[in-house]
Amino acid sequence: MESFFDVIVVGGGPAGLLAARTAAEKGLEVLLVERKKKISKVKRTCCASFYLESNYMSETTQIEGKKLIFTKNDFSVNYSGSFWPIKEKYGFSPGGYKWHMARFESEDYGKDTPLSLVLDKEALIEGLLKEVKNLGVKVMNASKAKKIENTEKGVKVEIHKEGQYLPIEGKKAIIADGVNSHMIESLGLNKNRKVKGSRCMFVEYVLEDCDIPYPNAVLNFTGGAICKFGHILLWPNAEGLPRVLGFNSIESSKHIKYPIATIDYFINESSFASWFKHAKIIEKTGGSLVPREAIAEPCLGNILAISDAAAFIEVENQGAMMCGFQAGNAVFDELNGSDGFNNYVDWWKSSFEFNNPKLLKGMNAIPAFNVGGFNDEDIDYLFSLIDGETLYGTCNQYKSAAAIWIAIDNHSETIKRDKPNLFKKVKKVMALISD
Ligand SMILES: Cc1cc2nc3c(=O)[nH]c(=O)nc-3n(C[C@H](O)[C@H](O)[C@H](O)COP(=O)(O)OP(=O)(O)OC[C@H]3O[C@@H](n4cnc5c(N)ncnc54)[C@H](O)[C@@H]3O)c2cc1C
Repeated sequence: MESFFDVIVVGGGPAGLLAARTAAEKGLEVLLVERKKKISKVKRTCCASFYLESNYMSETTQIEGKKLIFTKNDFSVNYSGSFWPIKEKYGFSPGGYKWHMARFESEDYGKDTPLSLVLDKEALIEGLLKEVKNLGVKVMNASKAKKIENTEKGVKVEIHKEGQYLPIEGKKAIIADGVNSHMIESLGLNKNRKVKGSRCMFVEYVLEDCDIPYPNAVLNFTGGAICKFGHILLWPNAEGLPRVLGFNSIESSKHIKYPIATIDYFINESSFASWFKHAKIIEKTGGSLVPREAIAEPCLGNILAISDAAAFIEVENQGAMMCGFQAGNAVFDELNGSDGFNNYVDWWKSSFEFNNPKLLKGMNAIPAFNVGGFNDEDIDYLFSLIDGETLYGTCNQYKSAAAIWIAIDNHSETIKRDKPNLFKKVKKVMALISD
């Protein structure tokens, strides 16, 4: 193997693969380092929805045949897997009241366009991996990057493969090793990053033989009588098989048993258990994350940190591919005497909602039902106010939960009259999310 590359990319997820593909298309010598043996195997839970929503992450995506098109960043990705359309979203309270969201007609998408399409992430990665190999990228699987540093000549990455430590050098490096990035930690870039909230653990089961009356919807479940220990989401995979996702906010990484207990209670004992009477679990994934604030200037010398590795929680798959595409171009520009990294940083700052404090506030609406002191009776009452309405359908995580609170707050005169104490709590949530 060559011992000196134009660019070393750490991480073979959607971000790293797009970075490698873009750099190789520009003629650079690229090394891609990935710790998994089978790179396309998805072990970390990801619901893999591809959002058809204008201006989310400053991008408007489209689908042409099986091509994923990024109209503003101006690139596309070939995809050969299945799609499953998500047309609606529902949230259920313990007493069975619900909120409902569906697509309204928009300028960029027609009326019947789904809110999102669920992708087969393994097929997406498999396709990208084939492309990068065809472009001559050197791919090292089963290889864990342990340490990265700037050197006089560029960068050095220490890689652990089959019991050996291999130092590999290059001119530039792109860190794309995902959330909880070991590379970011090894560079000391977590030191000034505030943790916003607590560690979250999650587990997902793919199920078959269920009887769920909403095949094209994402379902959210709220309240102790349904979720008992945490929070539950239920949505289909790319083949339409239901997936149940349990998650808990907890401090200790040892408590993976909590999301499992949350799911087990939901499918076996909650009022929704009849949907799962004959269910079989066919796959399990899981993971954890520490919600650190985004790195504002994600570059250090010859190293560019991209995507989830530098983000607040996640940029999602489409954001990951955008980061990879922009980073591959940035490295090419740097090596050709232009200010690629600074341009990348400007793009990073202006593209993602988490870099805009005003938009980031929308995220405060997500945990409000869990940590805001709302008991099951409160949740039933609040959901009953908007049961029967159809809210503007959005998967944008900075708008989605806030939209529900805004719909509830439209009934604030009724809440004030019926339940003055609850009214105060609702106003506290509204203060967290409004300007
Ligand atoms: C519960 C959950 C649900 C989600 N749902 C969606 C959704 O519906 N839609 C959506 O678009 N996104 C979703 N996401 C987010 C999405 O998974 C990520 O934003 C996306 O995968 C980020 O891509 P990435 O390439 O930056 O990182 P990753 O996909 O995490 O890839 C990082 C890669 O780096 C490798 N790696 C890590 N450390 C090392 C190392 N030291 N050396 C070498 N390799 C290493 C990993 O094995 C991995 O292959 C979800 C995430 C979670 C947790």
